[in-house]
Amino acid sequence: MNVTTLPKTVLTKSRINSRVEQTVPSGIRAFFDLVIGKEDVISLGVGEPDFATPWHICEAGIHSLETGRTSYSSNNGLLELREEIAAFLYKTTGASYDPVKNIIVTVGGSEGIDLAFRTLLNPNEEAIIVEPSFVSYAPLTFLAGGIPVHLPTYAENGFAPTIEDLEKAVTPLTRAIIVNYPNNPTGTILSDQQMDEIAEFVIRHDLILISDEIYVPLTYENDGKSFASHEEIRDRLILLHGFSKAWAMTGWRLGIAAGPSDIIEGMGKIHQYNVMCPPTVAQYAAIEALRHGDEEVQNMRREYDRRRRFITHHFNRMGLDCFEPFGAFYAFPSIKITGMSSQEFAEKLLDEENVAVVPGNVFGECGEGFVRCSYATSLDEIREAVKRIENFVKHHKKA
Ligand code: PMP
Repeated sequence: MNVTTLPKTVLTKSRINSRVEQTVPSGIRAFFDLVIGKEDVISLGVGEPDFATPWHICEAGIHSLETGRTSYSSNNGLLELREEIAAFLYKTTGASYDPVKNIIVTVGGSEGIDLAFRTLLNPNEEAIIVEPSFVSYAPLTFLAGGIPVHLPTYAENGFAPTIEDLEKAVTPLTRAIIVNYPNNPTGTILSDQQMDEIAEFVIRHDLILISDEIYVPLTYENDGKSFASHEEIRDRLILLHGFSKAWAMTGWRLGIAAGPSDIIEGMGKIHQYNVMCPPTVAQYAAIEALRHGDEEVQNMRREYDRRRRFITHHFNRMGLDCFEPFGAFYAFPSIKITGMSSQEFAEKLLDEENVAVVPGNVFGECGEGFVRCSYATSLDEIREAVKRIENFVKHHKKA
């Protein structure tokens, strides 16, 4: 039967679950729809490495295909990979995670975030989202049946939460708090003391801490710090990590969730029914990444660091105050001297100078007045982008 001849029915109620219906698409995507079809655009927009996955890691994936390893793996991921992950976490945090009881290999860090909220939250329980934040935290809290409580942070505090603000955000319904350091979009990292204070706060209020540490290997000041190094919090910590950023493996879709056995068991139930297991080919590649990928991670980190210094120096020089980002690959300059909203700045900049940046307000209301500029693009492109932005600012600076 021709589809167009199907009888039309009158809908009396929405076919879409109300929480899904109320969820709005990511502001980053919405903005990038404007970029499609435009030529000569320099994009400081995307949150992914401009490097290809190191070749020996790709080869390990290819080899797994050549040798017919194309079936499902165990639900929580190949044991061999989980053992490598446990060794990696021990080396980088000093924490012992049992590969069987405490680790799940997820489909990107994204799946780990979803699993965490769905495992923890009863209907209408609250999760504190420290903002500006990665765009999925609040929608995934809501889709899990929970209520996202937005906790703003400010440039004057280095975009770190103050304990006073955290205390005000807690209610009897609070179950969890999600943090992300190094932070997307600000590049903030925390000091040991700030981590201790957050850990104490979590314990004081009997909460679970979800720490998204996907950018920890991309820290430019000292070694990356993990909440797992803070022993007192380990039994209430869900550590999320992933291969996308540091190993330049976004398309392989592989992440890590590590935590206490009861929580990991709960997350595993959802994971088993919705994805069954992460991609097997990618898992073989990830084993290679953890065994022999260190040198490339360090090389990429050094290159990001060069770009980071360049871009922040030039933003500050042209009057776009830019807090120094010490991790991840984003700068978050203030655009207040133009008097424009973030959205207006990003749209006009794209229109007039063909440079794409992400309006800060998509990361939470407190991101208004800022734009996110990814320096995961070549230094030549960044140099050209900086020139164009400077030209734009000259024309739009408030008198
Ligand atoms: N967490 C943060 C903070 C991110 O920036 C991203 C990707 N932009 C993710 C998690 C998800 O990454 P993936 O699913 O590719 O691992």
